[in-house]
Amino acid sequence: VCLCLSVCVCVCARCLSRSMASKTPVGFIGLGNMGSPMAKNLLKNGYPIIATDLFPESCKELQDIGAQVVDSPGEVAERADRIITMLPSTPNVLEVYTGPNGILKKVKKGTLLIDSSTIDPAVSKEMAVAAEKMGAVFMDAPVTGGVGAASLAKLSFMVGGVEEEYQAAQELLTCMGANVVYCGQVGTGQAAKICNNMLLAIGMIGTAETMNLGIRLGLDPKLLTKILNMSSGRCWSSDTYNPVPGVMEGVPSANNYQGGFGTTLMAKDLGLAQNTATNTKTPIPLGSLAHQIFRVMCSRGYANKDFSSVFQFLREEEGQ
Ligand code: NAD
Repeated sequence: VCLCLSVCVCVCARCLSRSMASKTPVGFIGLGNMGSPMAKNLLKNGYPIIATDLFPESCKELQDIGAQVVDSPGEVAERADRIITMLPSTPNVLEVYTGPNGILKKVKKGTLLIDSSTIDPAVSKEMAVAAEKMGAVFMDAPVTGGVGAASLAKLSFMVGGVEEEYQAAQELLTCMGANVVYCGQVGTGQAAKICNNMLLAIGMIGTAETMNLGIRLGLDPKLLTKILNMSSGRCWSSDTYNPVPGVMEGVPSANNYQGGFGTTLMAKDLGLAQNTATNTKTPIPLGSLAHQIFRVMCSRGYANKDFSSVFQFLREEEGQ
């Protein structure tokens, strides 16, 4: 006997059909590493999903658990009045929103559009203006947390857009994340995300070069990590995501830098930081250098490795 109350997230058939009956469909576009688990969490919370992706095989798993799959973003817009997009980068977002079969060709008045991709904040602002012309509302809501956090609904969302619409966005985002933070006008979610990732990149390079120097000076990497983590050099890259193989378990450095957050995506985010710094005449000397380092890594075979492979890159740069 199911004893769930109406707010439950139980997935028994009775609860699922009852909660789905009371919830209108949510459109989801971009079922990649992040989008697929995010859409699954919306389904688990009783939202019927209407989804699409460039690659039909990306939709298969979601279709098997009840999502309706359609052929284009425009078709999603015809059928859903709340749509989430989770796409690789700025050109994909432009295509999905403004392309010939894009959302804005078919969007219904009053539709809430939430873009969780990490893109240029200037483009988020453009999309908000274009959506407003069609009577719709666009918000940016990029995330921190990787694929694991997406699966466990533990992502953090940084939301930019009209404050009156925030509550409606929050209702959906809390099904996929543990933290949802309102940052201000449209584009500020992207701004927060870009700033975080620039600091993450700088911190990771700093940790990698520090560990490399310590090892060259004869220190045991586990001992050096212990000392850093009890001292002022401690940071997330040293205490949670150490880039040196053998120091920690369950991180990409323990698994030949497989999984995690790809060097290509980090290089992309640093490119966004570079653009926004240029546009706002802001000096980012270390952010710029970090951008160059991750770009060079992409052209030297590290593109698909986790970004903590910068440790391996630095070691290989010098004669052993
Ligand atoms: P991904 O490449 O795995 O997935 C993107 C999906 O979008 C793919 O399935 C692709 O086919 C689809 N797509 C691209 N163009 C499309 C189009 N025109 N129409 C329909 N579908 C289209 O990327 P991801 O790892 O899921 O990342 C998505 C976003 O989230 C990126 O902006 C990334 O920077 C950001 N992000 C990723 C992580 C991570 O750990 N992977 C963490 C935080 C933020």
